[in-house]
Amino acid sequence: MKIDYGTQSKGKLLQATVDKPALDIFFTPKGSKAVCNSACNGCYYLSYFQSEKTAITSSQVPKLVEKSSFLGYSSVFLITSEILLAENWQEIIKSTGDTYINTNGKIIAEKEQSILEELESSGIEQIVLTANIPGFHLGLDLTDEKLVQKAFENIHNYESKKFNTIATVIVTSENYSHLSEMTYYVKNVYKANGVKFISHLPLPPDGIYDLSPSLEQLQLVIESISELREVFDVDEFSIQRSGTIGSQGLSDFKKKQFCPAGDSLITLVSQEEGSPVTPCIFISNVQIGNINGGIPVIDDNQLDSFLQLKEQAIQNGYCPAHFLSNQNGNNSQFVQIQVSEAKNEI
Ligand code: SF4
Repeated sequence: MKIDYGTQSKGKLLQATVDKPALDIFFTPKGSKAVCNSACNGCYYLSYFQSEKTAITSSQVPKLVEKSSFLGYSSVFLITSEILLAENWQEIIKSTGDTYINTNGKIIAEKEQSILEELESSGIEQIVLTANIPGFHLGLDLTDEKLVQKAFENIHNYESKKFNTIATVIVTSENYSHLSEMTYYVKNVYKANGVKFISHLPLPPDGIYDLSPSLEQLQLVIESISELREVFDVDEFSIQRSGTIGSQGLSDFKKKQFCPAGDSLITLVSQEEGSPVTPCIFISNVQIGNINGGIPVIDDNQLDSFLQLKEQAIQNGYCPAHFLSNQNGNNSQFVQIQVSEAKNEI
């Protein structure tokens, strides 16, 4: 089977340019407060909701997507906790034309056939689930491992459509040397079509610093990924590396392209006047602009400060979000970024 791993999301990022950036729309699936049916440690969604926030609600998303194309954004990424909790998730998917969905799998494990029928009729081709591999994700409080496995089983048992399935595997300081075992688990137990490795970022309030892999550990991860890619035919089983794994081992050309944060990607977390605009879903404490007159307006000075830090982080092998989340109050070895006080916090 031909794997279309990441075709749509990757394509969206490749299309994005400084003149026509992509937009993350960060919304909450029910009401306007933080809500999810799981509570994973280091979750970017919960990290954004540490104080009173006025989030974008799911009912506002379709109009916002429409507005974003008038405003010149090349595409939209839907960022939330569990999108299937939103009553209007089908309307939201329709508004972006997405053919993939990210989910923790709980609803697929519980609802079985009925939710898969809805996914099929919504044009979904690819389902991306966060893995919880027995023995390898201890301490992260991810969605129960049996439920994740059940979700994969339900997807494979669904006869009307063969969805493309990807498992997102969180790499930690404890499991970084076991990529091969985790890859075989995803392939043989989940029977997924591919795996995507992302790094654990110790985002507040519950991210765990000790579980965040070091640069040296990520170097070994990158070497393992290269070796594993030699083992599997990409058309049969794809092995992906998320930006959070960092820029080590990339050519200078690829380093220039690999992190869109700030210049060709911005994140909108509220529509309230004065709310901060941030560079990436994993970076909630850096402001690069704000909502002004109902639209995101980028502040050149704030953006320049961030881009300076981003460049140095990348040149030193980091993903900027990994670097920032690991600073943990220590003095940065790079330039200090100007982090504006968020006035109207969302
Ligand atoms: S900061 Fe990291 S996670 Fe965010 S866009 Fe850049 S590479 Fe990706």
